[in-house]
Amino acid sequence: MSFRITILGASGALPAYGRYPSCQLVEIQNRHFLVDCGEGAQMQLMRYQANLHRISHVFISHLHGDHYLGLMGLIFTMHLSRRTNELHIHGHAGLDDIITTQLRHSRSVPSYRLVFHRIDAGSREVIYEDDKLTVETLPLRHKLPCSGFLFREKLKPRRINKELLPEGLSIRQLAGLKQGHDVADEQGNLLYTNESLTLPPRKSRTYAYCSDTAFDESLIENVRGVDILYHEATFTIDEASKAVETLHSTAAEAAEIAARADVGKLVIGHFSARHKDLAPVLEEAKKFFNRTELALEGNVFSIAD
Ligand SMILES: [Zn+2]
Ligand SMILES: [Zn+2]
Repeated sequence: MSFRITILGASGALPAYGRYPSCQLVEIQNRHFLVDCGEGAQMQLMRYQANLHRISHVFISHLHGDHYLGLMGLIFTMHLSRRTNELHIHGHAGLDDIITTQLRHSRSVPSYRLVFHRIDAGSREVIYEDDKLTVETLPLRHKLPCSGFLFREKLKPRRINKELLPEGLSIRQLAGLKQGHDVADEQGNLLYTNESLTLPPRKSRTYAYCSDTAFDESLIENVRGVDILYHEATFTIDEASKAVETLHSTAAEAAEIAARADVGKLVIGHFSARHKDLAPVLEEAKKFFNRTELALEGNVFSIAD
C-alpha cells in the first residue's frame, strides 16, 4: 500500500528561481492529506495530477503567509469544480477567522462544508486518527505558534503464510487467523497457533514534517527513527546568525537533528532566496548526514512496506 510524499513547494518565505512556497501532498493507503498550503498550491496540485477532491484534511504548520496563502485559491478551485465532501482544515488560532472573513466579504458559500480544527502549538497531540494511521503535532520553535506533523501507520496485522497453510480450513478459521487468533476445531481444541501459520506484520511507516523551526534538541526524541524526516534548512552555516535571528535552521543543524534521531532519510527544504544554487546546501547537510536529499517541486518520496 502506498506511502508517498509529493513536494509541491519548498521555497522559503520569498519565492525565487521558480520555487513555490511550502506545500506537500501526503498519500498514505489511499488517504490524501495536504501539508501546508503556500501560494499557488492548487496550481501545483493540478500540475502534478493530484485529485483535489480526494484531499480530506489540510494541516497548516503556522500562520506565516508562505505556509497558508494558497488556502483561499484551493478552497475556491474546489468549489468551482463542485466538490461535495467535507474539507477539514487544521491550524492555529486565527486561521478560521482569516478564511471565514474572506468568504464573507466575497459573499461566497462553498459547495462543500469546511470544518476547522484548532491546533495547540505547545503540545504534542493526536489530531487525526482512523483505522490505519494517526497524525500527531510536534511543537516547533519559531516566531509564531508553530507545529510539525508526524504521520504514523498503526500496527499492522500478521500476514498469513500461504506456503504453510494447511488445506481444509474453514472461512471462520481463516478469518480468525487474520485477526490474530489461533486455529481451533469445533470443540475448541487447539489445532495450530497463530504464529505457526503467519508471518510478522509489515512495518508501520512514519513521516515527520518539521517546518519552520530553529534548531531544537527537544525535536530529536519526537522524530526518533522515523523513515523520512522533512526538516527546514533555510540557511547554511555561514548564515548561522541569520538563522538564530529569524528562528530558522541551517542545513548542518537539520542534518544534526537527523543524525542524532537516527532517521532513515532526511529531506531538506524551505530554501532561502539567497540560494539560487542548492548544491552547497545539500553538500553541507550531507557532511553530517549522508542520506539527505533536496525537496524539489515534483519530487516524490516513497516508503516501502
Ligand atoms: Zn516559512
Ligand atoms: Zn515561518
